[in-house]
This record gives sequence, structure tokens and C-alpha cells, in this order.
Amino acid sequence: MINLDTKITELNRVGKTISGRLKILGIETAEDLLFYFPFRYDDFSSLKLIKNLQPGESTNVVGQIEMIQNKKSFKKGMHITEALINDETETLKVIWFNQPFIARNLKTGDKISLAGKVESDFSGPVMRSPSYEKLFNDQAVHTQGLVPNYHLTAGLTNKQLRFLMKQAIPLAKEISDWLPSEIVSSQGFCSLSDAIRKIHFPKNKDDITEAKNRLSFNEIFFIQLQQQIARNDLEKSIAPEIIFSENKTKRFVESLPFKLTDSQRKAAWEILIDMGKSRPMSRILSGDVGSGKTIVAVIAMLNAVLSGKQAALMAPTEILARQHFETFCKLFYNYNFQIALLTGSEKKIFSNTGTRNIKKSEIKSLKSEIMIGTHSLVQKEVKFKNLGLAIIDEQHRFGVNQRAALIRTNTDSNGLTETSPHYLSMTATPIPRSLALAIYGDLDLSTLNQMPSERKKIITKLIFEEKREIAYKFIRKEIENGRQVFVICPLIDESDKLGVKSVKTEFKKLDQEIFPEIKIGILHGKMKSDEKEKIMREFQDNIIKILVSTSVIEVGIDIPNASVMMIEGADRFGLAQLHQFRGRVGRSNFQSYCLLFTENSSDKTNKRLNALLTCHDGFALANMDLKLRGAGEIYGTVQKGFPDLKIADLFDYKLMKKAKHEAEKIIARSPDLEKYPDLKSKIDNARLNAHLE
Ligand code: ADP
Ligand code: MG
Repeated sequence: MINLDTKITELNRVGKTISGRLKILGIETAEDLLFYFPFRYDDFSSLKLIKNLQPGESTNVVGQIEMIQNKKSFKKGMHITEALINDETETLKVIWFNQPFIARNLKTGDKISLAGKVESDFSGPVMRSPSYEKLFNDQAVHTQGLVPNYHLTAGLTNKQLRFLMKQAIPLAKEISDWLPSEIVSSQGFCSLSDAIRKIHFPKNKDDITEAKNRLSFNEIFFIQLQQQIARNDLEKSIAPEIIFSENKTKRFVESLPFKLTDSQRKAAWEILIDMGKSRPMSRILSGDVGSGKTIVAVIAMLNAVLSGKQAALMAPTEILARQHFETFCKLFYNYNFQIALLTGSEKKIFSNTGTRNIKKSEIKSLKSEIMIGTHSLVQKEVKFKNLGLAIIDEQHRFGVNQRAALIRTNTDSNGLTETSPHYLSMTATPIPRSLALAIYGDLDLSTLNQMPSERKKIITKLIFEEKREIAYKFIRKEIENGRQVFVICPLIDESDKLGVKSVKTEFKKLDQEIFPEIKIGILHGKMKSDEKEKIMREFQDNIIKILVSTSVIEVGIDIPNASVMMIEGADRFGLAQLHQFRGRVGRSNFQSYCLLFTENSSDKTNKRLNALLTCHDGFALANMDLKLRGAGEIYGTVQKGFPDLKIADLFDYKLMKKAKHEAEKIIARSPDLEKYPDLKSKIDNARLNAHLE
């Protein structure tokens, strides 16, 4: 018997290979599978009689096989499978190419369902290479009605996923419904089990709407509830008051090689005022790429440390964490602070006596004044001595839980929370203020709406293939003038299908053919982290002149000497993301350039990319993308973890408001959720997972 916890490997036809692929999608149990939702549906709901078929239409036909045979076409050396299908009104000819196994799977007399496009030849209607499936009890999964389509990974097909889904779907009735029943009835929702059944195998469009309403509400409600709880905790908890060390801060700011912008001053001021209170600060610092958020964070951290507290900064990637670490080591060189770096692959401490590895025993009570890391910072075994300030960089890359885990890491020897640290998150994701309130309802907002003054606008150009040589010439000149260059490609390896540019091939081409005399580096997510570090360091030290990379460099990387950002396959990225890439250059007073390459010359693509040429405002670009491509593209797949929504639409204000309202009502009625045991255990589980991550 299978149940919700059944490992996916115990389902029919799931071996090691398939289970490995499912794991990439986050599917390990039958329950995971049921909560893996389709992103669209093929509509084969128009079942037609063969005598009524019209050439040119896509449709669905059900009939019996009258004849099926394999032929070999000598002319082209192809296998051809031919079948005649009869539905008692007429006969339809069906042809498949190079799939001889079909004739072994299907036999004369079998009842089958076909979906595809109708054509006609001298003999009457024909379907070429339609989807097909054998019918048992007249039930079709792949070819009839609304057929679900799932996001896939290499080596996994929709057909396989639907087959597995069909096995697991009877378990939907065992799913416990944690949404309080008063909400289910007041909102007129269907049960959670029904919603799961309907999202995968809808009978009609109403089923899809009903399921989506219910599942979206669940998702947003849960986030809202977590926030309400966080806010409640916050209001009860006490933070260490951090005194503003005015003179020392002034001296520090004067020692910087630049003048702070007015926005930076204002944001720093808001933060310092907040930190002076005994209630924990909870603030988000939002500002476009390159607006200089880091230095604001540094000022806050300096004050925390001068007040005798620790400050931690969590970043989404190892490269970024290491870069921050190095910046901090330089900025605080004269301060005699210990600065720790904790990532998956490195754990070390910098101090005036040098850099050394962190001992295992130290992790349980880290004493460094400043701690920088990836999510390694919130692992269970890591404990801080007296954290006064917790900062998350590129906060949209983290889930609500990781954020909560970082804030809560402040525990005394009994494992009880003494005080909560002040909390600051930073993001370059342009989100409307109202939306920020809906998602991060418990946060105050500071904005950097000003760029450092000597910055020049980055000249952006769309470049078609025939001008490639000229672009390379230009790049060579920039390098001769001492500058450096980024080249971004959409993929790591060459894709056989799409001919999309990959880092590996581009690297080879540039390194061997185009710029043989120039030192070129390669960077992508599959490289070991010491390799990545070496490459980043050589790029930082201006040894590597051209860095060919995937989007791993997207967030946060700061190489002021780089002046050209060249993007291959630009049409494959969202505008907001392209703008992030562009933000990697133009970080000093050198004139910088962003060169967008595309082989896709459709009007839509052109229009989209052209927006970048004139518009330099991340917020406006995100809004444009929103209109042209939909929210899912920008915030869903590209900016995953912002918050990690599976089904709900982040821009559905009505839903946000409704979910928030209901969450407030629940918390008002039962602040500890004692009256809602199912909900409570779900919340507790989420917390636990955050600690184990
Ligand atoms: P982001 O907001 O994207 O995180 P960073 O904090 O990385 O931006 O800053 C981008 C670059 O601008 C860094 O090299 C930083 O030293 C520099 N910078 C920050 N503030 C100023 C300023 N007021 N004037 C000039 N350069 C600045
Ligand atoms: Mg940054």
C-alpha cells in the first residue's frame, strides 16, 4: 500500500534514474508529487467524430485500430508505422515516423485516443505523429480533455509525470487540510483534496479555477500567517539598544574614497535611529543595482560592533559572500575586528594577526565581531554569542524561513532566546511599495533612489550577428585601455537543440580564436568553489581581462574596473535580470557599455530589448516585463525565492489582502494557534525545516 510518505521509488516504473530526475524537481515522496502543480493545460476537450474532421484543426479522436503495420521507406531510410482507426463513422489514417515500437505496443482491436493536427491526403483525413494512448476503461490521461503540462527537467517527460500522478492521485483524499474550516466555508473553497485532484486532472476549466483559488489562497495565507507570527514575536521581544557612535562613524565615513549620496545618508540615519530602540528593527533597504547599499550596511554594522554586539551578513552565493568578506576586511583593516566567513566550502576568520580556519569547537559560539556567509550561517550547529544586527543581502533570494532562522540565532546557554537582533534586508528587486507591504508586511522601508553622482549612463546597444566583428574590435580597444569585460551566456554546456550560446563554447572561441593574446576566464555554477574563487580573484586583480560566465555573477558582484557587459542570447533573459547584469559595469567613473546580442529578430523580442536602450530604471523595466511576459517570468522562475510561490500570483492584490486579513483574524482569535492544531504543526514544521536547511 502506498501512502503520502511513500518514497517515490516505490511507485511503478520509478527506478534510480527517474527518481534522480524527480529529485531535481524537489519530488521525493508521493506527497511532493501531488504538490508539484502543472503550469498549463493542453485543451483536447473537443472530441470529434472522424466523419466530421476538418483539415487544419487540432483535435482529439477515439477509435479502434483496424490495422497497424511497420514499413520501411527505402527512399529516406525511415521507419514508418501506419494505422487505420475507425470510430464507426469513418476511418482515419495515422502515420508515425521512426517509432517502430508503436506497432509493438498497439494491436489491431485496441481502443486508442489520439490528439494532434488533422491533414488530408488522397485517401481522406490523416494524422501525422499524433500523441496517442491506449484506453483502458475508456480513460485517457494524455490525449483527452484538459491535459496537464509540468515544468520538466532533462530526461523526464510530461507523459511520465502524468503516469506517476495518476498512481498517486488516489492519495489526495489522505491530505490533511490545515486551513481552518471557518475560512474554507466562509470563502466557499473546495476541500484541499479536491483542489489537488482538480489541479492535476480537471474535468473542465471551472475545475482549474476552483483548484487554483484554493491552492493560491493556501500559499499566500501561510506566508501571511508566518509574518503575523513574526510580527507578534517581534513586538514581544527585546533588542539590544545600539548606541550611535557619532564621532567614530563620521571618521569612518570620511575615510571612504567617495562621498556618500544623500540617499545613503538618509537610509543610514533611519537605520541608526531604529537600532537605538529596544524593539528590534525590521527594515528593508531597497535600491537599484549599484546604488551603494553595501556601505549603508557597513555603517550599521560598524555601530553594532562599537556597541559591543556582533553583526552578521548573509548573502545568497558564495562568490558574493566572499566579495563582501574581502570588502569588509579592507574597510575595517584599522579596527582590530575579527571578521568571519562561513560558506559551504570555507570557514575562516580574518584578524590583524592574519587569516586562519575556524575550529569546529568555535562554531557553537562564534565570537567574531562580524560574520559574513551564505545560508551556512543559519545551520543548526552555528551559534552566535551576542548578535545585535542581522543583515540579509539580496533578500529576494531567500525564503521567509531562512530569514527567521537568521534572526533567531541569538540564543543563550540554555537555548532560550535572550534578545532578538535588529534586522535589515537589502534588495535590488524593484517591488512596488504596496506590494512590499503585502509581502513583507512586517518591514519598514528605506530606499536609495539616487546613484553615486559621478556615474555615467551605461551606453546600451542591441547588436545583430553581422556587427559582431565590430563589437569584438571595440572590446579589444577597451581592454587595451586597461578595462575589463564580462561575457554572459545563457547556458553552461552547448545545447544540441536550440543552438543557444554556452559558456564553454564561447570561452573556447574567444580564448583560442578571437582574443588568443588576452587572458580569459570562465565561471559557472558547476565549478568547484575553490576554482570559482581563483577565477574571481584573478578577475578582481585584473589578471583576467574577459570573464565568460553564466548568470551566477548576476547578483552583487562588484568589479569597478569592468566597463563592458556583453550578453549573448539576450532575448532569453528578463528585462529586470538584464538590468541586473548591466549593473555589473558602470561602477566607477569610466564610461561603460552594455552590448546585447540576439539572434532572435522577432518584433516582440526587439521591442522588449529596445526598452533597455533608453530606460535605466530597474523599477520601470520590471513593470514593462510584467506587461510583456507576465509576473511568473520575472519573479517566478528568474527570481526564485521571492517568495517562493508555486501557484499564487504575486501581483494578485485582492488575494494578498484577503489572505492577510484572514491571517490577522486567526492570530487575533488564537495567538499561539492553540485552537488550530493542524495549522500549528504546519507552522512548527516550517520552522524546523528552516533550521535543518
Ligand atoms: P549595490 O547597491 O548594487 O549593492 P554596491 O554597494 O555594491 O551596490 O556599490 C556599488 C559600487 O559603488 C561599489 O564599488 C561601491 O564602493 C561604490 N559606491 C558606493 N557608494 C558610493 C558613493 N556614494 N560614491 C561613489 N561610489 C560609491
Ligand atoms: Mg549589493
